[in-house]
Amino acid sequence: MMNQRRSSILCPNCRKLISVDEERCPYCGTRNPGSRWKNNLWTRGFRNTDQYIKAIIYVNIAMYVFSILLDPLSVGHSANPLAFLSPSNKSLFFLGATGTIPVARFHRWWTIVSANYLHGGIIHILFNMIALKQLAPVALNEYGAYRMVSIYTLGGIVGYLMSYVAGVPLTIGASAAICSLIGAIIYYGKSRGGAYGQALYRQVGAWAIGIFVFGLLVPGINNWAHGGGILAGAVLGIALGYQEKRRENLFHKLLAGICVAVTLAVLCWAVVSAIAYRLL
Ligand SMILES: [Zn+2]
Repeated sequence: MMNQRRSSILCPNCRKLISVDEERCPYCGTRNPGSRWKNNLWTRGFRNTDQYIKAIIYVNIAMYVFSILLDPLSVGHSANPLAFLSPSNKSLFFLGATGTIPVARFHRWWTIVSANYLHGGIIHILFNMIALKQLAPVALNEYGAYRMVSIYTLGGIVGYLMSYVAGVPLTIGASAAICSLIGAIIYYGKSRGGAYGQALYRQVGAWAIGIFVFGLLVPGINNWAHGGGILAGAVLGIALGYQEKRRENLFHKLLAGICVAVTLAVLCWAVVSAIAYRLL
């Protein structure tokens, strides 16, 4: 075996090549950059940052497929395209749909996380994933992958908190989280300015207006979750900063790690408890 202690590593913060036994990173000053707590699989991250977006999409698809498999005999197959291949209400409830019914009546607080990964039909998930695939790369580029993950997760939670406070009884979908990316990009465009910032601000601002108008015209759209998501995304963008102002640091990585851990724990609980309910 080679002596690993003398090898070099990438600083977990600035990703420059340094010696593993360095006490401080000579480039960014991070203490003990070689420590296992600071330099691990998570802080090193995916080499290809698109993987973060793909991971979110895969989790959404997996939850959707599972919501259908959980109660396959009640899957919607009506001519209404919005209800096509829709999981049953029972299935969605047990996998963690949120709103005043699950939260206030059944004390299922964790559903403000799980609802972000549930969808009511093939058109619903398709539209949301197309929007995510358009917006997430912009947010990832300007904020970095870790801040994008945190904005997406926390924005979705705040969106569903707002809709709960507003009294929406039962709701699901990734759009609250997607709206938080919209809010963050709008703030970025406005704050950065210039031709590029202005263009982003106008383009994504038009998305926000479109969503708002769509929500007023089409019944059953959770405007509170959308509005809450956009607002939360903008506030998170201000609080966390974007790449041109402040590069991503270990705090951003830690925050994103907590977001991912909480999301995975909640989704695992949702799946296990839904299976248990079905078997009992
Ligand atoms: Zn460094």
